[in-house]
Amino acid sequence: MRTVLITGASSGIGAACAKVLASEGIYRLLLCARREERLEELKNELLNDYPNLEVYTFVLDVRNREDVFAAIEKLPTAWRNIDILINNAGLSQGLDPIQDGSLDDWDRMIDTNVKGLLYVTKAVAPLLKQSVNAHIVNLGSIAGKEVYPNGNVYCATKHAVDALNKAMRIDMLPFGIKVTAINPGMVETEFSEVRFKGDKERAKTVYDGLTPLSGKDIAETISFVLSRPAHVNINDLLIMPTAQA
Ligand code: NDP
Repeated sequence: MRTVLITGASSGIGAACAKVLASEGIYRLLLCARREERLEELKNELLNDYPNLEVYTFVLDVRNREDVFAAIEKLPTAWRNIDILINNAGLSQGLDPIQDGSLDDWDRMIDTNVKGLLYVTKAVAPLLKQSVNAHIVNLGSIAGKEVYPNGNVYCATKHAVDALNKAMRIDMLPFGIKVTAINPGMVETEFSEVRFKGDKERAKTVYDGLTPLSGKDIAETISFVLSRPAHVNINDLLIMPTAQA
């Protein structure tokens, strides 16, 4: 059994990863996010579907560096053998030109998407080094490859993830740890609702005229990446809805 830590597991792509990986019967799941009740719901659903699944949940705000290191330090011994880290927690807030952008939104995105990903990776790296065929999966984005109108700071954070993904591959090479960036186009999750601060109507219009990807589409891609033989590292993957320009 391989132990997977998924950040941002309470909804969207993270929750879909938990479900897809649980269905495969070869993973133990460590799930974290800020919303405890959502993690509990997910855990109950998983255990209902897969009674033999080993799953452990804990609350974590990846922006809080003391909490990140303490949470990993405090994991029960049986859960300290982490083989796979899925750096999924992330968000976009606001969609405004720079001159109108909110400083708080910028801080939230940079602190979560860049600094949070770094804190978790640093905290978990010593455990990954002890695993054979360990793997780090970073959720990047098409926004880490291109820049779109008003995407400024979110795009900058995902360009940073792109750079960090490349850097991690170099840094992890001596330890045989694989590193993969999964860069999706539009995925229908709570992402748009978060971006537009709970405005569900505006969030829905994002998908007008196309069928977006689902969290499951991304989770199945991650499952494929994880299942490659030891000598194969898929380092960078772009996955788009067929109709997205
Ligand atoms: P969701 O909003 O559905 O999920 C985001 C997850 O991140 C939630 O579980 C949320 O949990 C968690 N999260 C947010 N902030 C923090 C934090 N400070 N600490 C810990 N967890 C946090 O969106 P997606 O599933 O779509 O997003 C997942 C990843 O995919 C993100 O990195 C996003 O940038 C990326 N992505 C998404 C795309 C899309 O179109 N949806 C496209 C390309 C990339 P909680 O609120 O409970 O903490």
